Amino acid sequence: MKILTIHEVQSFLKSMEATYDVRVPIRLLDGTRTLGKVDEGTLAIGGGCVPRKITSVFFPQMETVLDMKPGKSEQVKSQGKPLFVVGFTAQDADCLKFIDRFYSENYRDDIYFGKRDEAVIVCVSGRCGADGEFLKIAGGNCDLELISDGQNYLLNAYTEKGQALARKAAGTEADENLYQQAMNESDAIVSDELELVQKASTLLREEKVPDEFWVSVSDRCIACTSCNMVCPTCTCFDVFDRKSDDTIKRWRVWDSCQLDGFMREASGHNPLGTENLRTRRRIHHKLAADPKRWGQITCMLCGRCDAACPTGLGIKSVCMEMVQKYGS
Ligand code: SF4
Ligand code: SF4
Repeated sequence: MKILTIHEVQSFLKSMEATYDVRVPIRLLDGTRTLGKVDEGTLAIGGGCVPRKITSVFFPQMETVLDMKPGKSEQVKSQGKPLFVVGFTAQDADCLKFIDRFYSENYRDDIYFGKRDEAVIVCVSGRCGADGEFLKIAGGNCDLELISDGQNYLLNAYTEKGQALARKAAGTEADENLYQQAMNESDAIVSDELELVQKASTLLREEKVPDEFWVSVSDRCIACTSCNMVCPTCTCFDVFDRKSDDTIKRWRVWDSCQLDGFMREASGHNPLGTENLRTRRRIHHKLAADPKRWGQITCMLCGRCDAACPTGLGIKSVCMEMVQKYGS
């Protein structure tokens, strides 16, 4: 374990570019944070989760999955250096762990794992939240973790790959107690939000939320799809084929359960034909259907959909309304 100044962190990340396609949180000229290359903007490791869907590095919004020529079709293989992705919060690491399951159980998605298998995941935590608050420590589910004390970063490795890379970082050797102290602070964080979604999940699974609730809240939805586009555990996609010369390329593109055409069938019948059914489906899926299917709630409370929804229909907002109305 080492303590690194922010300059040493930056040099370490830059040095990784020889072997990896390094993506880090950067600040753009307009002040927003996103994931980019080390030199594409100002390094902005602190500040909490990056607004964009962080799992998009492995499941991009649009990608070619198949090249088809007469008599021959080939799955598109991942090319270039393996990814080295910095900026996962503890909640993001939980999201990634879930979608690793999603893409590997029953059917293994080789396109996803072509990018994911060799990737290095670096979480960022500690005293570097948007307002200086303490961000929960992942403590695993990643190769490396950068834990801020408000000024410097403690670099901790959890995997053999992470340990080998951490040896290449500059910095000074750190006392194990520093990690334990940070863990104690992390463990002391009480999450009211977790209790909230658990209560909402119970209400949904016990069918205590009437249709009129969904009619009343969904009236606000403008179908912008932001909630799905930023969610690290949303995995729905559509496919289409595009022809150029003698090749047909098959693309997969993110889909959104908030769109009218999401479930529309060829006959014209639409099982999710109204906005209230679609909003219900988005929330019910993560809090009731997924616990049944996967044994876990699949909202990890990353906060992105609440930050992105222009009409207050992020999952925490909806859960709050639901629990206030039907929770007693
Ligand atoms: S908080 Fe919203 S965006 Fe984040 S995992 Fe939950 S549903 Fe997805
Ligand atoms: S972000 Fe809000 S307004 Fe946009 S589709 Fe989702 S619920 Fe509707």
